[in-house]
Amino acid sequence: NAAKVDASPPVLHLVEAVQRKVKKPPQGECVVYWMRMEDLRVRDNRALAQASAQAQRDGVPLIVLHVLSPQDYIAHDRGARRIDFVLRNLQVISELDIPLYAVSRTPRTTIPAFVYDLLQQWKASHMFANIEYEVDELRRDIALCKIANETGKVYSPFLRSWKPLLDQANSSHLEEAVSPAPNDPAVRSHPEYGKLFDVEVPYEVDGFALHPEERERITSCWPAGEDAAHEMLRRFLKTATRASQLGAVDPVSDGAKEAKDPARQSRMGKYKDQRDRLDADTTSRLSPYLAAGIISARACIREALAVSGKTKVDTSPDTGVGRWIQEIAWRDFYNHIVALFPRVSMGRPFQEKYANLRWETNDEHLQAWKEGRTGVPIVDAAMRQANTMGWMHNRGRMIAAMYLTKDLMIDWRLGEKYFMEVLIDGDLASNNGGWQWSASTGVDPAPYFRIFNPYTQSQKCDVGGEYIRTFVPELAKVRGPDVHKPPPGLADKLGYPRPLVNHEEARKRAIHRYKNIGEV
Ligand code: FAD
Repeated sequence: NAAKVDASPPVLHLVEAVQRKVKKPPQGECVVYWMRMEDLRVRDNRALAQASAQAQRDGVPLIVLHVLSPQDYIAHDRGARRIDFVLRNLQVISELDIPLYAVSRTPRTTIPAFVYDLLQQWKASHMFANIEYEVDELRRDIALCKIANETGKVYSPFLRSWKPLLDQANSSHLEEAVSPAPNDPAVRSHPEYGKLFDVEVPYEVDGFALHPEERERITSCWPAGEDAAHEMLRRFLKTATRASQLGAVDPVSDGAKEAKDPARQSRMGKYKDQRDRLDADTTSRLSPYLAAGIISARACIREALAVSGKTKVDTSPDTGVGRWIQEIAWRDFYNHIVALFPRVSMGRPFQEKYANLRWETNDEHLQAWKEGRTGVPIVDAAMRQANTMGWMHNRGRMIAAMYLTKDLMIDWRLGEKYFMEVLIDGDLASNNGGWQWSASTGVDPAPYFRIFNPYTQSQKCDVGGEYIRTFVPELAKVRGPDVHKPPPGLADKLGYPRPLVNHEEARKRAIHRYKNIGEV
């Protein structure tokens, strides 16, 4: 239809390409893969693999659609760093030889109809996508299915494809992990069609622009692209050649099997015993890439098993690889919680009995916590790590979250929101799960009476105080145990704040409040 073609230049490109390269498309004129915000990869991506296979079977082009939706970012409290990371990763994808069509659409409620129109214009026979489990995203997809159903025919293949995808997603990651990679690397460059569109990925999105200095800092910590994600995985898996230092990347050497000699152990090898060490760089730092789907959990598990020389999935707490896979399972666990109990993502505690817990309203304390000025060095180091790197060590998150909710008795939802704003790995399910764990309101939480003593945590997890000295410059020159709890005179001299509350008193207050729910 010429009128339609003229109205929409991308369609013109597509139709030309189809005419040039496809003689008689048997069903429709293209297959669409809808790449979601948490799926920014072409490797080990099941929906994309199926879309690609379908397109090749039918002899039609594959279109990779990405819909940028600023309103979605706001709705999920996503921060500018996370959005910038999405755009940088999209930019990398747009440089591959694949037919990416990236487009902005707002408001979010119009997305189903908008996508449906695109599919019709393109005469798509099928659309594939990985499921997003959050409530609004599921509603969006149901709305699209409904439009397709009501409008007729074209979408029944889409609906038929949906069910097996859901079944697949529900089956255990761990079992799937040992199966071979489904689509690496065929779709990196579409064998027949290459680029169809001349799309430009925007440099920034209104309301989410980063200051150039911040963009540079965050980019240097978290380079974009699948290759960067796989490099990060390799960094974690390979045998170290020298002791790792905070923030340093070891050169990698040979690396089969978990080394017995601790000095030669990979980060993964050390993970079993040292994962809680804030002063050692022993975790994978893959969360930004996993949260944005730049690497799949399957690929991580598969490679971890391969370098450990394991033929079966290991979830034993006694090996580095087993311990690490257990953590990845937490991610899936929290995704299941959000899918099965959507109320948790709408501000409700999983344990309803805590809905009326009495919280303090104290903007001054909240602000001091956000800025890392609580006067408790380990909390401040953790918060400042988040503010500078857009990432925080897991133990730091637990300590900082428990301090906000138990010592300051400030509502976990305020902390949850702030983490989403500053963390580049901000993920609704894991963040909510972590906060509800710390606030003892979650599905499998820390018992309310087991409150972290931040000073003891500091001595255990930042043994020599190096983590504190790195992120709290006021204390950079303090040696010995004072770094964990500077005496008032020293703190005053160094311009470091005194503690906002007394930990012992705060602990008693928290236990009293949790025990006596509903008491005013
Ligand atoms: P590794 O220790 O190398 O673990 C590998 C992967 O397993 C991680 O990348 C992550 O995808 C997953 N994982 C590990 N621990 C957990 C966990 N406790 N819960 C869920 N998944 C886990 N993680 C996020 O990805 N996004 C968040 O927004 C987030 N918010 C959190 C908030 C709080 C209060 C807490 C206590 C935890 C939160 N976590 C979050 C979980 C965890 O802190 C991070 O996943 C981890 O610190 C990332 O570092 P890593 O990649 O080096 O992890």
